Amino acid sequence: MVKVGPPRPGFTNRLYREVISQGLCTACGACVGVCPNESIALEWVVPELVGPCESCGSCWKACPGKEIRLGDLERKVMSRSRRPEERRIGIHRSCYAAHAVDQAVRRNATSGGVLTALLLYAFDRGLIDAALVTGMSAAEPWKPAPVLALSRDEVLVSQRTKYMLVPGGLLSILGKAVIDRGVDRLAVVGSPCHVHAIRKIQTNGNGYLKTRIGSKIRYVLGHHCAFNFYPEGTEALIQAVGLKPEEAASVAWRDTSEVPFPGQFSVSAADGTKRSMPLLQEYVILGGIYDRPRCRLCYDWANEVADLSSGDEVDEFGFHKAGAQRSHTVVRTRAGEELFAGALSDGYVAAELVTEADVARNLGFLIKKVGNIPRIEEARRLGLPLPDFGNYPFF
Ligand SMILES: Cc1cc2nc3c(=O)[nH]c(=O)nc-3n(C[C@H](O)[C@H](O)[C@H](O)COP(=O)(O)OP(=O)(O)OC[C@H]3O[C@@H](n4cnc5c(N)ncnc54)[C@H](O)[C@@H]3O)c2cc1C
Ligand code: SF4
Ligand code: SF4
Repeated sequence: MVKVGPPRPGFTNRLYREVISQGLCTACGACVGVCPNESIALEWVVPELVGPCESCGSCWKACPGKEIRLGDLERKVMSRSRRPEERRIGIHRSCYAAHAVDQAVRRNATSGGVLTALLLYAFDRGLIDAALVTGMSAAEPWKPAPVLALSRDEVLVSQRTKYMLVPGGLLSILGKAVIDRGVDRLAVVGSPCHVHAIRKIQTNGNGYLKTRIGSKIRYVLGHHCAFNFYPEGTEALIQAVGLKPEEAASVAWRDTSEVPFPGQFSVSAADGTKRSMPLLQEYVILGGIYDRPRCRLCYDWANEVADLSSGDEVDEFGFHKAGAQRSHTVVRTRAGEELFAGALSDGYVAAELVTEADVARNLGFLIKKVGNIPRIEEARRLGLPLPDFGNYPFF
C-alpha cells in the first residue's frame, strides 16, 4: 500500500490558507524575499502567487504571520529564557537613553538617531557590506520603500520613522540582496515582525533559508512598535493638509525641522511649499482610523529578538519626552553589545544608563502589551484566527 503523507507546504496550501486568508499576514515581505522562484508579489499589503510554486516551503518557514513562538526564538538566538524581570521588554543586557553624536544625524532622526548612527559606524569600520532599511520611493515620494544601502550616504535616506506599512514589504528584496547581489554581511533594521521573520530564517529554516540567506545577516536591529498603519492613512494625512498624494515631493511623519522633538507631520509640494499637522492630530487619524487589525494581535513591542532595539525616550506619562531627541535603546545580544560598545567608544553615539522600567513606561508599550491582551483573549475564546505564540510568557 502506498502511504500518502501530508502535502508539502506551499503558497496555496499553507501560506494562503493559514496566514493570508486568515488576516494574519503582517505584510513583512519575507515570503516574497525568500521564494527561490520569485513567484510571490506584494503590491499593497496582501501577498499573491504570481508564478509557479514548487512547494519548497521556504515562504511558510520564513513567515511570522501565524507561527511566532517567541519563547523558542529567544532560546535559539539568546541561548536562554527570559527572567521574570525581563517579562515586559524581553531578554537584554542593558538599556540606555542614547543619541547620535553627529548633530545632523540626530536632528534628522525620529528619536536620537541611534539606529542610523550604528549603521554609519558599521559601514565606517567595515563591519557590513550593506544595510536593508526603509527609505522612500523615488517614483512616489509619499510612499516608504525597501532600500539596500550600499554605503554610509545611502543609509541616511532611511532616517526617520515612516508611520506606514512598507508597500511591497521591507523584506521583499532580502533574497535579491544576499543571493543575487552577493552581500555577505548585511544589517537589517525592521519592525518586530520583520525581525521575527529574519530570526525564523536564521534558525528554523531549511538549508536554503539558513545557509544562503540567514547566515549572511550580521546585525538584526529594530525599532519598538505599538502598531502600524494602512497606506491609506498617509493618503488621508496628505489630503487633510490640502494636497493630493501625487503632489507630494516629500513626507515626514515626525518632522523636527520647525518644531521641537517629537515633531509634526509635514508634506512638501514640488513648488517647495510645506504644509504640516500637529503630531497629536496625526496620531488620532492614523491610530483611530487606519490601524491594521493584524497589529492588534501582535505581542512584541520592544523588538524582543533583535540584537538591539530602539524607541523614543518618554516622559513620566509615557509620551515622547519634549525636547529630548534621545532613543531608549535596548541591547540584547553579544552582537548588539559589541556594535553599541564600538559606536560608543568611537564617538558615534552618547548614552546614559536607564532601567527596564524607564523603557517600558511608554504609551506604545501600553497600547500593545496591555491593550492587545483582551483582543487576543477574545479571539482565543471565539476560535478566531490567532498567531501561535507557543509558550510565550504573557503577563
Ligand atoms: C510603525 C511604528 C511604530 C512605532 N511605535 C513606537 C512606540 O510605540 N514607542 C516607541 O518608543 N517607538 C516607536 N517607534 C519607533 C520610533 O518611532 C523610532 O523609529 C525609534 O525611536 C528609532 O529612532 P532613531 O532615531 O534611533 O531612528 P533613525 O536613526 O531615525 O532610523 C529610523 C530607522 O527606522 C526604520 N524604519 C522607519 N520606518 C519604518 C517602517 N515603517 N518599518 C520598518 N522600519 C522602519 C528605518 O529603516 C531606519 O533605519 C515606532 C516606529 C514605527 C515605524
Ligand atoms: S511572510 Fe510576511 S508578507 Fe508573507 S504571508 Fe507571512 S507575514 Fe505576510
Ligand atoms: S504591531 Fe506587530 S505586526 Fe504590526 S507592524 Fe508592528 S511588529 Fe509588525
